[in-house]
Amino acid sequence: MASLVVGRFHALAAVERFVTIHALNVRVAIAMTLQTKLSAFFSVLVICLVAAVMAIGLYSFRAYSIKTATEHISSAAEIVRVSLTEAMINGVIDKREGLLQRLIEVPGLKSVRVVRGPQLEHQFGKGLAHEQAADALERQVLADGKPAFELLEDDADTTFRGTIPFVATTRGSPNCLQCHQVVDGAVLGAVTITMSIQHLKRNALITLSMIIGAVGLFSLVTLLVMRRLTRPIVSTAREVERAVRLAIDGDFSSRVEVRTSDEIGKIGADLNRLLNYLNDGLTRIGDLVAQLTNHNRNSGGNLLDSTIEMVETLTGAAHFKQAIEEDETKAEIYARLSKSIENTFDIRHYSIYEVLPTRNQMLPMMVDGEPRVACRWCDPQILVRNETCRARRTGHIVDGVATPGICFAFAPPADTQGYRHICFPVMQSGAVGNVLQVVVPPEQQERVAARVPHIGVYLREAAPVLEAKRLMETLRESTMRDPMTGLHNRRFLEESVDTLIGQAQRRKCSMAFMMLDLDYFKMVNDTYGHDAGDAVLKALAKLLKQSVRASDIVIRYGGEEFLILLQETNAADADAVAEKIRTAVADLKVQTSGGILQKTISIGISSFPDDSDTFWQALKFADVALYHAKETGRNRVVRFTKALWEDNKKDY
Ligand code: GH3
Ligand code: MG
Ligand code: MG
Repeated sequence: MASLVVGRFHALAAVERFVTIHALNVRVAIAMTLQTKLSAFFSVLVICLVAAVMAIGLYSFRAYSIKTATEHISSAAEIVRVSLTEAMINGVIDKREGLLQRLIEVPGLKSVRVVRGPQLEHQFGKGLAHEQAADALERQVLADGKPAFELLEDDADTTFRGTIPFVATTRGSPNCLQCHQVVDGAVLGAVTITMSIQHLKRNALITLSMIIGAVGLFSLVTLLVMRRLTRPIVSTAREVERAVRLAIDGDFSSRVEVRTSDEIGKIGADLNRLLNYLNDGLTRIGDLVAQLTNHNRNSGGNLLDSTIEMVETLTGAAHFKQAIEEDETKAEIYARLSKSIENTFDIRHYSIYEVLPTRNQMLPMMVDGEPRVACRWCDPQILVRNETCRARRTGHIVDGVATPGICFAFAPPADTQGYRHICFPVMQSGAVGNVLQVVVPPEQQERVAARVPHIGVYLREAAPVLEAKRLMETLRESTMRDPMTGLHNRRFLEESVDTLIGQAQRRKCSMAFMMLDLDYFKMVNDTYGHDAGDAVLKALAKLLKQSVRASDIVIRYGGEEFLILLQETNAADADAVAEKIRTAVADLKVQTSGGILQKTISIGISSFPDDSDTFWQALKFADVALYHAKETGRNRVVRFTKALWEDNKKDY
């Protein structure tokens, strides 16, 4: 087998580098769009294909060129051998140089040189100067009698060289041994022929270029067709992505254009149906919720989020209503409303007022989580002139966040500069029954303003329950008061006795009982009429109320009989108060239809638990003392003693 020295193929190396770089790019393409990925994949495929075609083409052309050149050189060597033999026979062997010169004129052949082997040199001498072996290849061929070839490449030309041995043989007529004194098979010499294969290489490159051009053109057309085919997929995918992104942000109004009737088109159509369904459903739910909450749905913003938020508020408000319906007192309802304002809406500063329409007043029921404290965020004049509260007067929400300074009564403390208020009227039977005022620091104003409709939901739930509770309490209150004098009645005493005893025991101090009865009152009625009697009773009730502390309790115990419970009062103080009352009554001039009247009063006093640890018995003892006061001349104060009780028992 002929030994080949393989040359460098620069083009192949370049293709390899190109393929490596693009293979790396495929990894980068993971984050690319579908179309970019397909294009990148296709490009890499085309590059690999072109590289493979080039590698195979170059290899084939190279093998073909070497084989063709080997055959040409072998043929030329045979012609040289035959020509030299002919020259020997014809005796013109010394003209052999001319023969070789003419041979070079054959297209493609570059040089032809004959080399003498050692045995020929021995018989005919060394010959011409250039007929000795010139290099290792020729010496090797002369030594082993085997042809040798090599490919020579330089920048200017690509040449193929072959050295073919002339081996002596007995075949033919004449044969070699007839002229040469050598044995059969001896190497007589060799011929070295070089021929240019540059034209073969050029042809190979032209052919390869045409193949690559064709592959490139085909790839380009395929790529364009592929892009066109994938365009609907890519566009639909982009629109689906956009629609889904908008839907995540609560906008279900976008639609996907359905371009094809294949699977991609079906995805688009199905997504449109889903979006329609969601949009319609959520719009309906939103509208219903808006109706329920009396609040116009915000057309901007996230529809789903705002609907969920409102449904959560409705659910919370329903639970809140359930809880307050089962609360026993109004105070419990106010406390629960406070908790909701704090926990559900994260509001720390607020006031809940109760409007007292008959008295043109407002009462702070809860202020910043504390029950029944003074007005903190408003001018206190709203408490006595409730029309100065804008929310109470107008029956509308007063938004001091949107319109700072809208209400003149809002008066936050000096250390809360920048705080603003939103006041909600709570409507009960067409009138403002309560006012909720929320006060927010600057950084929370936007958040709380957005929660206004939600707070409104809670207040709407609370309104009827509060109204019912207020009515009930007013009713209950009225059964425990005497309508003529406005004082508590005996029923009130019966209902509060446990509380009063409990308080006295807790405080470990005594309570004084004062039983009072007008002297000769019957005479007033008889002389001046019942109206004059009523006027005296009203004036007396007013005097009694003014003569004691707010914590003391004045009760109209019977017709013209009164009971005063003096809390935490010892005997001496009670006596002093009784004496003060007695003289005040004696000095009281009552204007009646029958003229000015002056009456006196008798008072009996006992102490609980000093005189008796039984409440009702201590009361009875006061009555005994009163009886004694009447007995001993009237217009006097008598303190209960054990002796009086003994006398009393004797009387019965
Ligand atoms: P004294 O207590 O000093 O023994 O004499 P008195 O005249 O006050 O006697 P008594 O307490 O028995 O009389 C009570 C009178 O009070 C009888 C009743 O006509 C009158 N009276 C009771 N309730 C009312 C009322 O609401 N209005 C009027 N005008 N009179 C009343
Ligand atoms: Mg009486
Ligand atoms: Mg009397």
